[in-house]
Amino acid sequence: MERNTRQRTAIRQAIADAARPLLPQEILEAAGAGAPGLSMATVYRNLRTLVDEGELRSVLLPGEVARYEVAGGGHHHHFQCLSCQRVFEVDACPGDLASLAPPGFTVEDHDLTLYGRCAECATPARGRKAAKPAAAAHSHTHDHGHAHDHSHTPKPARRAR
Ligand SMILES: [Zn+2]
Ligand SMILES: [Zn+2]
Repeated sequence: MERNTRQRTAIRQAIADAARPLLPQEILEAAGAGAPGLSMATVYRNLRTLVDEGELRSVLLPGEVARYEVAGGGHHHHFQCLSCQRVFEVDACPGDLASLAPPGFTVEDHDLTLYGRCAECATPARGRKAAKPAAAAHSHTHDHGHAHDHSHTPKPARRAR
């Protein structure tokens, strides 16, 4: 029994730590350190139980093996990286999409997946050779014969969630 508890805790922890939906294979790799001897069959068995108990929920993307995330995160969407295939959570939601439906139809729910490249894959070499635009703008040399007004208008603040 104690062994089972340790395995379940390791699985739950691996998913919580990742903070993104994980494939059973990823769960096995991540949880294996905390539960030596963990097998794929055990991972699947525990996932089933944890879903039944409402702790986890499955994330099904078209044509993909089910991934698992911590339940209770509320309405959200997902992003799949086309390069590394990993799936991430997207907190934003376009909101009411009812107007997209044909006239006379009633929309009750929607599912939305964004595809693209994650931050890691979007940066070619990890050594960022392109400096941030704001810093680049400052690399010009000044004529120091006169005073500069160095106040820059700040970028508009990101829209609050
Ligand atoms: Zn990626
Ligand atoms: Zn939504």
